[in-house]
Amino acid sequence: MIYLDNNATTAIDPIVLEAMLPFLTEHYGNPSSSYTFGRRAAAAIDTARDQVAALLGAEPREIIFTSCGTESDNAAIASALATTGHRHLITSTVEHSAVKNQADNFERQGYGVTWLPVNLDGTLDPASVVEAIRPDTAIVSLMWANNETGVIFPIEEIANLCADRGVLFHTDAVQAVGKVPLQFNNAPIHFLALSGHKLHAPKGVGALAVRRRTKFSPMLLGGSQERGKRSGTENVASIVGLGRACELAQERIVDENTRVRALRDKLEAGILARVPGTRINGANAPRLPNTTSLTFPGVDASSLLAQLDHAGVCASAGSACTSGAIAPSHVLKAMGVRDADALASIRFSLACTNTEAEIDSVIQLFPTILEGTR
Ligand SMILES: *Cc1c(COP(=O)(O)O)cnc(C)c1O
Repeated sequence: MIYLDNNATTAIDPIVLEAMLPFLTEHYGNPSSSYTFGRRAAAAIDTARDQVAALLGAEPREIIFTSCGTESDNAAIASALATTGHRHLITSTVEHSAVKNQADNFERQGYGVTWLPVNLDGTLDPASVVEAIRPDTAIVSLMWANNETGVIFPIEEIANLCADRGVLFHTDAVQAVGKVPLQFNNAPIHFLALSGHKLHAPKGVGALAVRRRTKFSPMLLGGSQERGKRSGTENVASIVGLGRACELAQERIVDENTRVRALRDKLEAGILARVPGTRINGANAPRLPNTTSLTFPGVDASSLLAQLDHAGVCASAGSACTSGAIAPSHVLKAMGVRDADALASIRFSLACTNTEAEIDSVIQLFPTILEGTR
């Protein structure tokens, strides 16, 4: 198998698993218990908090552990609406469903939502954010990097513009963490969401960075874990894994931006050379080093994915319906791609686990695979 769907999820790194295992076996104490056995688990969480904070350039007390990236995004936006009492939010038309569907839901409940458009490259004009701010705006929520195209938004610039106008700013940085050398405290970002399973930690754990002195209204109330910001007994093993994964991400960010980027560029160049007419979505924008979204006009993406699967290659289309049918990606549509072309697009996303031999083999196989769809 050649796994090129790392924006969907990543393999747990063996080093991460090794760090986690003791907390799934002998160290099962509750971190809230006062005896030594419990305090050992609490200490492991403290270490993980330091590790996540170090990667982000945040303070440990600014980190809240959650169950996933989706929870982190939802908690940030819900908190801003609750603490400000305002009923308007600003986001973009290319967000992940974790933000998009929550904003949709608030809109149905009568909240105002401004959906900022993107241009043909998938980038966003910071001036459009400023124009959308109203006196009743609770929060601006924009992703750092797009999961489908890899396009990177100028988040620090936008955060500064929002701060100048006194508006809270949240960024879904799930795809950016570990790939973009970002620093939470470099800009007035109030909330930043990340997810474990996108950076070689397990599924079912995430984190939300909340800037110090930002008012916070929790979604989960209970035993006051995470300083009352996120109740529920901690997923100790997964939190330990996330911490270790953040440490590894810090060590590997150079590899991501050199070797992995070169592999992605080689894959793009190799496919473009063999399949005339192929288009790279977001090609002229700043992009993540690991992601490529390609359109093959006239090709049915779902049968292309099936052929790739048959050849042992994992890739993905924009978004899949529950039926398994492919709907045209809202991200590509927002970039002005016609439905027919959106349905002819697939995404490859690489990671440090990929090798040059794998990329060479996909490039080699690709014309035959594509032929199989016609
Ligand atoms: C995967 C992803 C999420 C959701 O994270 P989960 O941990 O799967 O809930 C949110 N935003 C982006 C950009 C993602 O890629």
